[in-house]
Amino acid sequence: MLPAAEAEAKILALVSPPTETEQVPLDAALGRILAQAIPSPLDFPHWDNSAMDGYAVRHADVQGASAENPVALALTETIPAGRSPTQSVGPGQAARILTGSMLPTGADTIVMQEVTQREGEQVLVLEAPEPQQFVRHRGSFCRAGDSLMQAGLPIGGPELAVLASAQCVQVPVFPRPQVAILSTGDELVMPDEPLQPGQIVDSNQYALTALVRQAGAIPVTMGIVPDQPQALRAAIQTALAQADVIVSSGGVSVGDYDYVDKILAELGATLHIRSVAVKPGKPLTVATFPAQRGVEPIYFGLPGNPVSALVTFWRFVVPALRKRSGLATGWEPGFVQAVTRQALKAGGQRETYLWGRLTSTPNGYEFELASGGHNSGNLINLAGTNALAVVPVGTTRINAHTTIQVMPVSMLVS
Ligand code: AMP
Ligand code: MG
Repeated sequence: MLPAAEAEAKILALVSPPTETEQVPLDAALGRILAQAIPSPLDFPHWDNSAMDGYAVRHADVQGASAENPVALALTETIPAGRSPTQSVGPGQAARILTGSMLPTGADTIVMQEVTQREGEQVLVLEAPEPQQFVRHRGSFCRAGDSLMQAGLPIGGPELAVLASAQCVQVPVFPRPQVAILSTGDELVMPDEPLQPGQIVDSNQYALTALVRQAGAIPVTMGIVPDQPQALRAAIQTALAQADVIVSSGGVSVGDYDYVDKILAELGATLHIRSVAVKPGKPLTVATFPAQRGVEPIYFGLPGNPVSALVTFWRFVVPALRKRSGLATGWEPGFVQAVTRQALKAGGQRETYLWGRLTSTPNGYEFELASGGHNSGNLINLAGTNALAVVPVGTTRINAHTTIQVMPVSMLVS
């Protein structure tokens, strides 16, 4: 049994980042990963402009200004945002200027409105500004040709704003990974089928499809595969033709009908991992196939138990999908420190994950253990949870009010 951290490192080493790119329109780029660095086509700001509502002046004219000795300047014009100044500011002159407006030639400093007094066509300056005060200089945020953003960055609201400002209307992004999902088991039926004694609904298909989508990948749902070697072989071959990540659940244990590892070997795959020291989720198969379309397809055989399937997906498949998606950094799961409200118990032999709810409080994060049994077959108390508390190997009990490591598995931590 491989320790969890070693399994994670091994999996990440097996996954290569994407090599292809595609172009998407700016308004379809949300959630995608930037595939190339974006050089700035322009200086930011595009021209010297004002950071304040006030007056554009020559510093030399106002350096001795004070409330007792105000300096009077003659107004040339008002420069609204979106229009070029029409006149230069000469000695003894000032232009009325608004936030974001272009600085007129001749002026080098902005005096904010609050330290002036308007008298008809004159303005009195009541305080000496620093030289260049409140001037945003052309190119001071970014120069034309410099990189605005690096490849591998996820595109969210701020990144869309930068791309829009740079007039990048077609965005180079990595293709989303295609992930085939198959459920193995003779006992499985679809949710709209009547349940015969001994049958259960294939819930993993829905959960895994959702998690694949949340990870930014494209789920290719392959449905239920019976526990027959021939059927499993055919399903894996079909999956390989469509996807370079395959996720199955069930059939990786040591039971009489657990054929996945055997079929993978027959199909020429290399088995890298067969079990990991985690609970839930000990049986976990990770295999790769010889390269096709330039990448080695990777196969994750997750345990069938609904909680085990989800926990192993969050812990081991999500990092692989992040790397395969082209994210430059942040593949590994994040862990935060939280105070547990309840005592946590574990067997001590395997790294144990207990599901519950992470909340942020003014004093930091707190973890509320889901009530009811922490049994890998009990998916009912998973609903409403957003995090997994980690009990390390060698620890059998953690007292309430202790600080622990928690892995958030949903973005929604309230
Ligand atoms: P297995 O790993 O195939 O031995 O399955 C372990 C347990 O998980 C069994 O009780 C299965 O009935 C259950 N199980 C397997 N696949 C699924 C699935 N797709 N949805 C819900 N439960 C499943
Ligand atoms: Mg099974």
